[in-house]
Amino acid sequence: MQQGQINVQTENIFPIIKKFLYSDHEIFLRELVSNAADATQKRKALIRVGEIEGNADGAQVHILLDADAKTLTIRDAGIGMTEEEVDKYINQIAFSGATEFVEQFQEKYADKADAKEAIIGHFGLGFYSAFMVADRVTVETLRAGEEAGWRWSSSGDGEYLIEPVDGAGRGTMVTLHLREEEGLDEFATEWKVREIVKRYSDFCEYPIQMEVTRTTPKLDDDGEPVADEMEEVTELETLNSRKPLWARPKDEITAEEHAEFYRHLTHDWNEPLEPIHFQVEGTLEYTALLYLPKERPLDLFDPSNKASSVSLYVKRVLIQKECEDLLPAWLRFVRGVVECNDLPLNVSRETLQDNPRIRQIRKRLVKKVLEVLGGILEGDRERYEAFWASFGLVLKEGIYYGEDEDQRISSITLFESTAGDGWTTLGEYVERSPEDQDAIYVIAGASRKTLEASPHLEAVRAKGYEVLFLLDPVDEWVIQRMPEFDGRPIRSIDKGEAGIEDEESKEAREKKEEEHKDLLAALQAALEADVREVRFSARLKESPAVLVDDEGGFSSRMERALRQGGRELPGRKRILELNPDHALVGGLKRLFDVDASSPRVGEYAELLLGQALITEGSPIEDPSRFARLLTDLMVERVSG
Ligand code: ADP
Repeated sequence: MQQGQINVQTENIFPIIKKFLYSDHEIFLRELVSNAADATQKRKALIRVGEIEGNADGAQVHILLDADAKTLTIRDAGIGMTEEEVDKYINQIAFSGATEFVEQFQEKYADKADAKEAIIGHFGLGFYSAFMVADRVTVETLRAGEEAGWRWSSSGDGEYLIEPVDGAGRGTMVTLHLREEEGLDEFATEWKVREIVKRYSDFCEYPIQMEVTRTTPKLDDDGEPVADEMEEVTELETLNSRKPLWARPKDEITAEEHAEFYRHLTHDWNEPLEPIHFQVEGTLEYTALLYLPKERPLDLFDPSNKASSVSLYVKRVLIQKECEDLLPAWLRFVRGVVECNDLPLNVSRETLQDNPRIRQIRKRLVKKVLEVLGGILEGDRERYEAFWASFGLVLKEGIYYGEDEDQRISSITLFESTAGDGWTTLGEYVERSPEDQDAIYVIAGASRKTLEASPHLEAVRAKGYEVLFLLDPVDEWVIQRMPEFDGRPIRSIDKGEAGIEDEESKEAREKKEEEHKDLLAALQAALEADVREVRFSARLKESPAVLVDDEGGFSSRMERALRQGGRELPGRKRILELNPDHALVGGLKRLFDVDASSPRVGEYAELLLGQALITEGSPIEDPSRFARLLTDLMVERVSG
């Protein structure tokens, strides 16, 4: 018999484990089940190399509950431990692992109340987590190939007892005496244990079995139910599904199996759009089985739902559900599983977020998902467009957040355009563009209909250039992060210099501007409050006037939306461009030359500004004045 005191500062860690980490206490079962599975695995390995005799096939992990005694026991037929091993692994490793965990935990998270839950969920506390729910734990163990069994017991406070035990079964049996505390007796109930096993250990490769008792109609000798008589039947039930589909060879998995697994993971009743299954070998080995969903979930844009939906497993054990470090938020629609056995299941390493291996996996997953999407786009346009309709908006967030390296996202982004009713990619746009076109033209607006009628399109259209429509409100932000594609600048045709004019027409326009200098100045003076400059346009063919914004700025629609959202924006003046070839401009010039001080000049300027606002879908500041000016004009006309 060996009695002793463990040489770690348990007086510091024990209260923390008991109290602060209490909220996630159910992970103790995950830890103990995974130890049991590890031990089973180790025994199997020893049998395989001939070190011990026996047959490890059909090995199970058993969970035994005793509601009256308030105990929960996990029993495996694994490798077991010698006396020395109990001392080394349980007394030293498990306890010092826990100390290290708590130290790290305190250092990093002591002042962040909400992080506590997160961290314990991410990491295993190992064997010691048993003390989160138990005030006494006993371990009975018989090492494979040995005769003598050992019994270890402790209250987790540092004192322990190791004694020989007769009749110990093969492997290890860990019994938890649940603390007398509200809620903890749940852990001796079938439903709770079943729920926890299902959540964390569903893919454990060994069956996790529990004796469950059911009340069923009593059967007679012929197997017929006896009327009004019930009986209790106890049977061994396997709690875990044991089907880690990701571990199977890719080619052997059928579409039905994928569909079933996907449903199991996501509770989405649609079939997945596409499975993405791959294995990475080398210094860091892992397997990923991801799914692209078909339909947009309702909470896709719920601001609290920013995390990824990929779960992280280590050795079949769920380490973190929805592990946000595995995929960026702009791929949050991807569901699935990553299993990496090179990650520490235990506590004493970095947090997941700081873990370079996780970063490495994340990078690869992003690349792979985008590659697969690119493949669907190439191979099955219709399917891709359906996908895009549901998830394109989310993907574009990736461009906005500056993660469009190598234009991986922008090359699979779809736009509507003047070329037709459907969607186009930027690549297709470039391919279609005439030889003399060296930029990509875009215009933002609320609807296709308004944009199609926009005066801004007149000159580009006349040149045979296509224009992309930015119809999603986010597009204006996204495009700011996309100055070019495939070496071609992306230009908003309603902003700045559109850059569509050749030298010759530019000279001609500037010459006309010089000739009309005084008129333009007078018009600008009349519109001083709203307009910074009145100039001749290179954009217009039919319309007389159009409003232009500064390059890189927001459209007036976006400004309005931002202001409505409570954003304070500096007031801005815009540029009014006139069509130098329009009859109206010629008429104004004559009017101005005859009487430069005529009030008509100012009134017509207001009317021009007003109609430019209307065509782009903007409100007029003083609609009744605009209506009156228009009426006056009509009166003049009808009265000849
Ligand atoms: P970890 O499992 O991460 O090493 P634990 O604290 O859970 O840390 O366990 C410490 C050690 O105790 C294990 O590495 C293992 O050697 C031993 N051990 C725990 N449970 C069992 C078991 N059921 N059978 C055999 N050995 C076990």
